[in-house]
Amino acid sequence: MNDAKKLQLLFVSTPVGALGSGLGGGVELTLKNFAEELQRRGHEIKIVAPVGSNTGSIPLKEIEGSPQTAAQTQGRETPIILPENSVLEKMWDYARTVQDGFDLIVNFAYDWLPFYLTPFFSSPIAHFVSMGSLTQAMDRAIAETWSVFPETLAFYTRTQAETFPDIVAPRCLGSAIALQQYQFCPQPENALAWVARIAPEKALEDAVMAAQKTGIPLRIFGQIDRPDYWQKIQEKHADAPIEYKGFFSTEELQAQLGKCRALLMTPRWLEAFGNVAIEALACGVPIIAYKRGGPVEIVREGTTGFLVEPDSVEGLITAIDRLDECDRHACRQQAEAEYSLMALGDRVEAWFYEIVEARQTA
Ligand code: UDP
Repeated sequence: MNDAKKLQLLFVSTPVGALGSGLGGGVELTLKNFAEELQRRGHEIKIVAPVGSNTGSIPLKEIEGSPQTAAQTQGRETPIILPENSVLEKMWDYARTVQDGFDLIVNFAYDWLPFYLTPFFSSPIAHFVSMGSLTQAMDRAIAETWSVFPETLAFYTRTQAETFPDIVAPRCLGSAIALQQYQFCPQPENALAWVARIAPEKALEDAVMAAQKTGIPLRIFGQIDRPDYWQKIQEKHADAPIEYKGFFSTEELQAQLGKCRALLMTPRWLEAFGNVAIEALACGVPIIAYKRGGPVEIVREGTTGFLVEPDSVEGLITAIDRLDECDRHACRQQAEAEYSLMALGDRVEAWFYEIVEARQTA
């Protein structure tokens, strides 16, 4: 197909919360980045998202309805659940009615419904899978889509894709950020950063214990996804030098993050990518992360951070003691060399063209 053809793209957002709320985690930033970069290249994008979403200059169709429970809060054997007045159902109902006006629909939801609907739509659906394997129902939905329309699936990283059964040679897009929005900060203050949704799978308590033992203040940034969990941490570690800063816009977050000596990434689960890691690098901030999931493919040991034995607070402390070995300039350079939006845009565009072309020649 002619690569110059501009595509009409309908992006269907995550149903766990409004875009910009932080409840969707890193996939919110990824959707925004895909949309802005493709728009810059002349494609036409429309986003369908829960009411209250903010998409800047990109056309938005807001949909009312009950949010979906996030898959990471469910057990592996949890069946498919759709709440009454489901926003997921209504977003896909909208997509069905307008599909003829689009070359491609792009699904950002980690939910069964869009995978199931794929063969029933006349327009092709691309699925961006934003988390690793969490439930049997999703494993099945993804495997079935893979067996019939393998070109329609893409993941963040190989490590993430390998958590699903039967996926061979997956398309991995990685991630990227708008580098010009992140300022390099050469000289940090004596503080550590922790940036994530405050939820059990992110194991904030490990970073808090590391701050307590080293005496270096920990600045916490992110949406409080689970207030009960956050309350328990505060009660259990009442003496720890921690400060909850809030949930910030990218502009404010990067200004605050840049002032920190390191970003601690302590997820208990397999992080599919970890957008916060590349945001930190862009500010010149090294990463100390557990050696599992996305960060393993990002951190350059001893230069742009350290990978630590998973779930080891002692490991975090040893790495904090060695932070002077890291090079803040090398962090920024790595972000520029490997995580530019331009490079990501090439990969996403190639993926979209392949799907549209496969459908036209089918
Ligand atoms: N984030 C933000 N403001 C904050 C804290 C976090 O915008 O104050 C965003 C951050 O930019 C990142 C996302 O929250 O895009 C967290 O995503 P990540 O991929 O690291 O983890 P996830 O929540 O998807 O597991």
